[in-house]
Amino acid sequence: AEKLDLISKCIRTFHDFPTKGIPFKDICPILKDPKALAAVTDLFEEHVRRTYPQVDLIVGLDARGFLFGPLLAQRLGVGFAPIRKKGKLPGPTLSVAYSLEYAKAEAEIQEDAVSAGQKVLIVDDLLATGGTLYAACELIKQQKAEVLGCLVVIELKYLNGSEKLQSTPVFSLIQY
Ligand code: 5GP
Repeated sequence: AEKLDLISKCIRTFHDFPTKGIPFKDICPILKDPKALAAVTDLFEEHVRRTYPQVDLIVGLDARGFLFGPLLAQRLGVGFAPIRKKGKLPGPTLSVAYSLEYAKAEAEIQEDAVSAGQKVLIVDDLLATGGTLYAACELIKQQKAEVLGCLVVIELKYLNGSEKLQSTPVFSLIQY
């Protein structure tokens, strides 16, 4: 509870970003406070060790999933792979189109990033409508790997993103 307190104190809201009507949750103060960043990694690690000891790979989402995912992967002693916005990854990729809370997008992963049968956890900073994590799950499944679950720092409960993800469990540290 002390760690959650520390993390929630480091989340601030900017209104009308990136467009009018969006109350944007900014996680940058977490990165600025080494104790808060360690608390995020600690709580993710504890949850994964307890719930998903079989995990093979952490996948992180462009761009803020890259800030938390590799730290967790290192703690667990497993690898990390990025899912990026279209056109950023070299070599053969798989892609999937999806819509966001405030935009449309396409996500890509390198074909050799995930092997068939691997057990994967997906990390991002925030779950809003669930469109982004849903697309990420589709990419992992295209590679015949298994999505064990998703981990996010923040879940915007009122947007019902976890319903969109159906049977894929979402673990969040802070809820609004
Ligand atoms: P969703 O696809 O669930 O609607 O949106 C989640 C994606 O958009 C995540 O990749 C997340 O980084 C970004 N996002 C949407 N709203 C916010 C917000 O208020 N704060 C932050 N930090 N990211 C957001």
